[in-house]
Amino acid sequence: MSTEQPTSTPLFSELGLAAPILKAVQEAGYETPSPIQAQSIAPLLEGRDLLGQAQTGTGKTAAFALPLLSRINAKAKSPQMLVLAPTRELAIQVAEAIQTYARHLKGLHVLPIYGGQSMGIQLRQLQRNPQVIVGTPGRVLDHIRRGTLRLGELQSLVLDEADEMLRMGFIDDVETILKETPDERQVALFSATMPGPVHRVAKRYLKDPIEIRIETKTSTVDTINQRYWQVTGTHKLDALTRILEVEDFDAMIIFVRTKNATSELAEKLEARGYSSSPINGDMNQAAREKAVDRMKKGKLDILVATDVAARGLDIPRISHVVNYDVPYDTESYVHRIGRTGRAGRKGEAILFISPREKRMLFAIEKATRQTITKMQLPNSEDIADRRVMQFNQQLSKTIESQDLAFFQNVVNDYQQEHEADPLEVAAALAYLVQKSRPLKPVKHVEARPARRERESRNDNSDRPSRREGKPPRRTNGSAIREAEAGMQTYRVEVGREHGAEAKNLVGAIANEAGIDSKDIGRISLQDNYSTIDLPEGMPKDLFQQLRKVWVCNKQLEISLMNLNSPEPREQGDNSERPRKAKRSGKPRTRARDKARRPSQRREAKKD
Ligand code: ADP
Ligand code: MG
Repeated sequence: MSTEQPTSTPLFSELGLAAPILKAVQEAGYETPSPIQAQSIAPLLEGRDLLGQAQTGTGKTAAFALPLLSRINAKAKSPQMLVLAPTRELAIQVAEAIQTYARHLKGLHVLPIYGGQSMGIQLRQLQRNPQVIVGTPGRVLDHIRRGTLRLGELQSLVLDEADEMLRMGFIDDVETILKETPDERQVALFSATMPGPVHRVAKRYLKDPIEIRIETKTSTVDTINQRYWQVTGTHKLDALTRILEVEDFDAMIIFVRTKNATSELAEKLEARGYSSSPINGDMNQAAREKAVDRMKKGKLDILVATDVAARGLDIPRISHVVNYDVPYDTESYVHRIGRTGRAGRKGEAILFISPREKRMLFAIEKATRQTITKMQLPNSEDIADRRVMQFNQQLSKTIESQDLAFFQNVVNDYQQEHEADPLEVAAALAYLVQKSRPLKPVKHVEARPARRERESRNDNSDRPSRREGKPPRRTNGSAIREAEAGMQTYRVEVGREHGAEAKNLVGAIANEAGIDSKDIGRISLQDNYSTIDLPEGMPKDLFQQLRKVWVCNKQLEISLMNLNSPEPREQGDNSERPRKAKRSGKPRTRARDKARRPSQRREAKKD
């Protein structure tokens, strides 16, 4: 962590935490409280409201969980603590962290609830009387409305990553939930930034809060050469492959946003001949250490990592850091690129940035007070040059270091027998060895010169424009156009009149359906309804679930649009629509799998 430690950091044992909590913290191996923890724990233990501003990775979860858990009565069987988090991933992550901190509190149950998980499972789990609930706002509100989550006994409410909840369009839901909680509950609000609406919520609902702001200093890294590639028509994977071809790298770490992406990308690179491994928070400590160790020993050249998994990695061999997905903030950019250029060595940092993410590029330049130069992707000539050069090097090295007597005889015999030209023989041999990696690469087929809209969507990472608080891919036109290949247009009964913005729809659908926001297509807001393009062939149960999702106090009542008639159709009645290519079904299936997996995992753990 690059946060400055106050000169006299208290010890965890001096903060007044309950004994079982202190024990768990010590077992977690935390030595001293982080700055936000040092400042938050005492006031939260006293029952005060709190407004905390601190960057990602500064230990906010423990900052609220340790004191609030210390105040919980594990014998009581009603929800006492509620944490709202913007995404399913974060809800799970926070619930797991809380579970760790609460492991010595007998009888304490922590339950994550989030969209995309079956209501049935959640209802069953709610009946087990969890004292701590961690959930996404949409789903929590849903349970409150159904009467399956009662907050009458709630002691504390935490709004984690409030600015992100705002960006995802959940701030109204958050307010509604706040109103459903008892007046005397304690509220802690954490946010990396403090935009107006978040501040307004804080002012309205927090009582005389203690305000904590942890300043982070961004150190400059001048031994690292920084470049960016503007993501355009070329697919990011294709771009990365070309860069790998020509960059002179020893070991490399590639940052992506999600755990799933670490495995997917590592597999693809492995298939392209690079020894790669994912490193993510799902892997246990031993597996992570093994990957790091293999990289240190030169058995592995590429690690594909999430920010969390790569925190603090110190591998001198790492010559390159690639930001395949843009970091969430300038701090994490600095952390990421700090994995190279260690101990005074030179390092290279490459950032993929889409036009929509340009603002982050400027922010990084400002924060690091360094310019990041634009790079061009290597073309096939560059790649050919490079391969020929490597081939020549290999040749010289072989001539220098190998005993070639036997092979000289083989070639000599051949040449004499066939009266062949020695140059021709050598050329034929060169041809044979390069087959799997041609010296003259086939010209890359450029990705379709896509429409601008499509480009920025595909090339963006997980959360395209939400970071900028802008409604994504919004069109206002009243004309409804045919959906793009692989997509179907749906109608939802929530429109401008209801106060909906595109981001509300994206947030709700991404969370509830487990559809990656980048798979959500064009959104067109009308007065009393909207249309939205989603991956083709949505499973029926998912469809039914989406019908009931609430946005702006209205249920979506999603239906499939028939473009030839204004009347919406029921899901499944898509017989007159020509089936698109098989391939198009894939992303959807995966999104669905992703949605299912964490819930199953938790289920398995609980039972
Ligand atoms: P934030 O919510 O601020 O982004 P987290 O609460 O997720 O940060 O914590 C980031 C990481 O730091 C986690 O892996 C957590 O286990 C670790 N961590 C938190 N507090 C401490 C501490 N006092 N000492 C060591 N590690 C800590
Ligand atoms: Mg956090």
